[in-house]
Amino acid sequence: MNAFVHQANASRVVFGPGSLRHLAREIDLLGAKRALVLSTPEQIASAERVAAMLGERAVGIFAKAVMHVPIESARAARDEAQRLGADCAVAIGGGSTTGLGKAIALESALPILAIPTTYAGSEMTSIWGITEAGVKKTGRDARVLPRTVIYDPELTLTLPHGMTVTSVLNAIAHAAEGMYAHDGNPVVALMAEEGIRASAAALAPLQSDPRNLDARSDALYGAWLCGSVLGSVAMGLHHKLCHTLGGSFNLPHAEVHAVILPHALAYNARHAPEAMKRIARALGALDAARGVFDLAQRHGAPPSLAAIGMPADGLDRAADLAASKPYPNPRTLERAALRALLQRAYDGSPPVS
Ligand code: NAD
Repeated sequence: MNAFVHQANASRVVFGPGSLRHLAREIDLLGAKRALVLSTPEQIASAERVAAMLGERAVGIFAKAVMHVPIESARAARDEAQRLGADCAVAIGGGSTTGLGKAIALESALPILAIPTTYAGSEMTSIWGITEAGVKKTGRDARVLPRTVIYDPELTLTLPHGMTVTSVLNAIAHAAEGMYAHDGNPVVALMAEEGIRASAAALAPLQSDPRNLDARSDALYGAWLCGSVLGSVAMGLHHKLCHTLGGSFNLPHAEVHAVILPHALAYNARHAPEAMKRIARALGALDAARGVFDLAQRHGAPPSLAAIGMPADGLDRAADLAASKPYPNPRTLERAALRALLQRAYDGSPPVS
């Protein structure tokens, strides 16, 4: 075994159906008395429920979280937190809402209690992202890591089928890339394999019954592990491609992950054979890339970049951008091979190693 460094992110996790009932206890354990509750406009009812549970421990609701944290919404949320004298942010929702909490914490170091309702995994990372003038800046900062995470699978019962599938694949992408990360280690690989297994296994029962609480619990447990991998090691080609496509062509986050992952794994396959073996094993498939492709198609994920709004004349620019700045990846970034990968993803063709 090679030498390694493992940096564990210290956060407290409260997991289980109905675990939202522990919210007030968890706020007290943080020593907070004035919580600002965050959500998207679509989830304001959840934010109101949380505020009601907190009673006088809640000082307000800011229900204006939107995808990719525009700087204007970050500023408005920071102002609101300051105006109300908030001493903690409670983020109930997906990665967009957690991201808004992180934007507040980045400036104020306000502790975040996250209540995730998707499988994006942001609650387990110290990665923040803010979009200004159409460009999304990201970074890592220990202040934005949520101190406490309440994973209550009951809150995911309402996640529509399409988002359930793409969000699970988004989670699997974190773990799959963590498996071959240049700074990976055996502990992260364990979490990654179990995260992929639990996430993938949840999809079949959720297909027939989206309100299957056991399967929802497995998917959220998988998302926790996959998010922990994302928070622990560096991501490679897949995340770079998704960031480029999402940022430059305004494509939806989880859908891009679902389309690109099989192709990114195929690109790296021969350069990370051990990782591919473990990913395939976790999926119960013979081949990692093909296994993800089949899983996505079987459960109705978008079939191609074309289907989610990628313009055909953007593929050259996307390949240029993806090949432009070097970063660690098992296989070197070859512009022609990346262009071919993007074409297959655009067409919805099966992955080719
Ligand atoms: P999202 O948070 O944008 O949510 C999408 C929509 O689904 C929203 O309208 C939301 O209100 C709704 N929704 C969420 N949970 C629901 C539920 N249980 N039932 C019904 N509707 C629900 O989507 P996301 O995929 O979770 O997050 C995407 C964002 O998170 C992107 O901006 C991405 O870059 C970011 N992200 C960041 C990290 C990180 O570590 N910083 C990690 C993953 C994702």
